[in-house]
Amino acid sequence: MLRIEGRIVNHDAEFNGAIEINLHTGLIERIGLVEGRSDVDTTGCLIFPGFGDIHIHAREDASGTQKYKEDFASASAAAINGGVVHVADMPNNPIAPIDDSTYAAKESLTASSTVHVTLYAGIGPHTKPLTNHVPYKAFMGPSVGDLFFTSQAQLESVISNYRGKNVSFHCEDPEILEANKNAPTHEQKRPASAEISATEFALHLIEKYELVGKLCHYSTRGGLKKILAARARGLRVTLEVTPHHLFFDDSMLTEENRLWLQMNPPLRSPKDRLALIAALKRGDIDYIATDHAPHTLAEKMQGASGVPHLDTYGAFATWLMTNHNFSAQDIARVCAFNPGQFVREFLPTSFGEGFGRIAPGYTGSLTILNPNKPSTVSRDSVKTKCAWSPFEGHTFPGSVDSTIIRGRIFPSQ
Ligand SMILES: [Zn+2]
Repeated sequence: MLRIEGRIVNHDAEFNGAIEINLHTGLIERIGLVEGRSDVDTTGCLIFPGFGDIHIHAREDASGTQKYKEDFASASAAAINGGVVHVADMPNNPIAPIDDSTYAAKESLTASSTVHVTLYAGIGPHTKPLTNHVPYKAFMGPSVGDLFFTSQAQLESVISNYRGKNVSFHCEDPEILEANKNAPTHEQKRPASAEISATEFALHLIEKYELVGKLCHYSTRGGLKKILAARARGLRVTLEVTPHHLFFDDSMLTEENRLWLQMNPPLRSPKDRLALIAALKRGDIDYIATDHAPHTLAEKMQGASGVPHLDTYGAFATWLMTNHNFSAQDIARVCAFNPGQFVREFLPTSFGEGFGRIAPGYTGSLTILNPNKPSTVSRDSVKTKCAWSPFEGHTFPGSVDSTIIRGRIFPSQ
């Protein structure tokens, strides 16, 4: 039994107590009172249900051709470094998991990961649903990889076979991207109107085919109103936001940092950024999901889109608390409870009630943050194989004290 005493934070309650994790089952067995006999010193810390990042690109697949930049072992080291205890991995690999056999082949590779990996299956122009219950991802327009559509009509003809399924959408309208492809900057090539148009179409598909929908890395304030209106009429749709769309905006771009901060969708205006922070705090946006994209420094110099984030997930959460007045319970909601709810139905039974809450029967994985011990990001502080961070040189107000995976302690270095 592992016993941890201290300040416990769930999304709906905060209290002093003791957590007992059964080391054989890996599940939380009991919540009790503080008795002054903790196996971990949590002085000055907050104990959260383990954080979940439900949008990452770990880059490992059956081809093995992208393991030079990340694999499941290095991605899980980065996750633990950032206080993340489970992840969900996207399907845009060279050998994409799009049917039963390619999905099983990729799933066998996740055995090398210390944190649990939920795999999305890809939806492309010629795919059909898998036999097993899995989450799906649809790239509406071209991004990184070959799984994309060139028109909305083509996408709808495929989605019509996925009625009732759990589908996440990358919302950028391919026709608007095509019309702007010769614009001078990355932001102008991929304008807000592309996301807003694709949002309308995704909501139409979610409604018509009764999908359980999720919109990935949401970035525009213009689309939010349409989503809230759709929710009000009963659509099942949730929203992700990335740390980079909350921390950076297009007014911060310079000739020096522009290549490092290139991603899809691109950085938006300061007004969009502040609207996203407010929506996340209010509960209109559901998850902090990073879109962790571990491209090498050389690839970034050549214009690759995407930035790595797993290592900095927990420290970033302390920035929201200090700089934007998020309560500890707000952090538990967007970093732990909601991500736990998303993956719950896809977990093996050995995870009990799953992730996202500190209560008996839930997985014994925890994120212990010290919100008042600052941490500075450097190339030496990250475990991702690509070995850089968009936050290099930045000091966050807090840090990850330790990460607990099913009763096993990983102190931060
Ligand atoms: Zn992504």
